[in-house]
Amino acid sequence: MVGSGPGGLAAAVLLAEHGDLRVLVLERHYVAGGLTQTFRRRRHEFEVGVHYVGQVGRPGMALRRIFDGLTDGQLAWSSLGAVHDRVSFDGHEVCFGDDPSRTREALVRFAPTEAAAIDGYLDAVRACVREAPPFLLARAEPRPIDDSRVPFRRFTDPTTTEMLDRLGASPRLAALLAYCSGNYACPPDRSSFAAHAIAAGTYLEGAAYPVGGGSRVAATMARALADRGGAIVIRAGVDAIRVRDGQAVGVRLEDGRELDARLVVSDAGLAATSNLLDAEAPGVGAMREAARTIRPSLAHCALYLGLDRDHAALGLGAANRWDLRVAPADAEAAMAAWLRGDVDRPPYAFVSSPGACDPTWSTRQPDRASVVALFNAPFEPFAAWADGARGRRGPAYEALKARLQAQALAAVLDVAPELEPAIDHVELSTPVSTKTFAGHAHGEVAGLDHTPDRFRYACTPRTAIRGLALAGQDAWLAGVGGAVLGGVAAASYLLRRNLARELLLGRPR
Ligand SMILES: Cc1cc2nc3c(=O)[nH]c(=O)nc-3n(C[C@H](O)[C@H](O)[C@H](O)COP(=O)(O)OP(=O)(O)OC[C@H]3O[C@@H](n4cnc5c(N)ncnc54)[C@H](O)[C@@H]3O)c2cc1C
Repeated sequence: MVGSGPGGLAAAVLLAEHGDLRVLVLERHYVAGGLTQTFRRRRHEFEVGVHYVGQVGRPGMALRRIFDGLTDGQLAWSSLGAVHDRVSFDGHEVCFGDDPSRTREALVRFAPTEAAAIDGYLDAVRACVREAPPFLLARAEPRPIDDSRVPFRRFTDPTTTEMLDRLGASPRLAALLAYCSGNYACPPDRSSFAAHAIAAGTYLEGAAYPVGGGSRVAATMARALADRGGAIVIRAGVDAIRVRDGQAVGVRLEDGRELDARLVVSDAGLAATSNLLDAEAPGVGAMREAARTIRPSLAHCALYLGLDRDHAALGLGAANRWDLRVAPADAEAAMAAWLRGDVDRPPYAFVSSPGACDPTWSTRQPDRASVVALFNAPFEPFAAWADGARGRRGPAYEALKARLQAQALAAVLDVAPELEPAIDHVELSTPVSTKTFAGHAHGEVAGLDHTPDRFRYACTPRTAIRGLALAGQDAWLAGVGGAVLGGVAAASYLLRRNLARELLLGRPR
């Protein structure tokens, strides 16, 4: 297994359990977990890539059953409550929560003359969520099938903007509905409606956060893997996937050692995986071409605030705040203008304090709170420093970072001035940090861009190399749930067995 993100660990647990295999997970970083890792600075704990997850808050929910099976029920979840997203746009605040009829009412209050478009949108989101699993499972079948004409394509082919237009939404309503494009890091005029609908639909019945923090996702799957005889090795970067006669036969580590394996799974993403393969091997050219065609998703900057009072004292609830100063379709260009220094504020911010709903937070972090603000951003302005060592990227990088940090902080304090007196630690990460810590070459938040092309050329664990599968978000969709489903698809493909169905049914082992 190359990489220990949630998708890789999901595949590892299933292969160890159902494949009668000894599974070894090789992780290049010094912590397992990929983007689900958390980190500490002095007295403060911060979350990287887990703020909220849908379909896990109540036992019996689909994704919850899958997580329960992968962690032997050891991963507990805490609900964000009635509201998980508070979206400020065009002078209104609209709440998205765990009751779909209340969410509908909030949308109708925002756009009173557009009830029909809102109902059409919610119906399309539900239908897309319902039809997505069979589409993914068919793509995990051992033999490729031609699915270019299946009915699900009516959701994958149009962009989000095109679909919302067809449903009769005004540009103003369409902009509000696309607020969550930040979650999959692709603007609505580029994203496939299916990617949008699955991301939005996952949260229609609320959201939850792992009890104990995001790092529990990896810790509980690592435990389940160990109980099944598998192991994770950190600081073990894979330099090449070895292939003989079209069959994966093992890997070569960065230190030159070669390991043999009957099966290889890569959680490193389609582009990085294709770069680990010999360019001349059959099918590798097509993998590289697919990754080039789809392109990486947007990257991001994150502002981390460590606060010296607890969440309740600061009035910080678990709901995320989305402050949209421009429509999501215009955010990428507006963000580029901010990075260039043309304007002094980022055009939007996602502000989150997920620890506010974690019942174990105060035992780990008494009298403290943390806030993370995320700003999706293009990678290019940071590309010059992509290969520089951490802490030694030079004065121009440090100056850019200092400006962005000060302006991002000002933007957060514009919406939450009450935080200022409690700030004890401030830090900004850039897309270069994502490259360093998660191995994403372009700092991408969501792997491959969530465009219609992604559903044509990716969104499958299958590769041209026998015995090699892709796990993680590129095998399906971004998000902890999407990556885990990508891992389930990888194990299903290699073992020729519908493991998603077995996990959903909770079949005894
Ligand atoms: C800022 C941010 C916020 C997010 N918030 C949420 C959220 O609230 N909810 C949600 O559901 N999702 C969220 N996500 C998305 C979610 O974290 C990811 O979609 C998911 O973790 C991806 O999992 P993965 O298994 O595909 O790979 P990753 O987590 O990217 O892990 C891949 C692993 O492979 C390793 N690797 C790569 N190459 C090699 C190699 N050659 N050798 C060895 N190891 C290698 C990497 O070091 C890494 O550990 C967020 C993401 C970001 C960036």
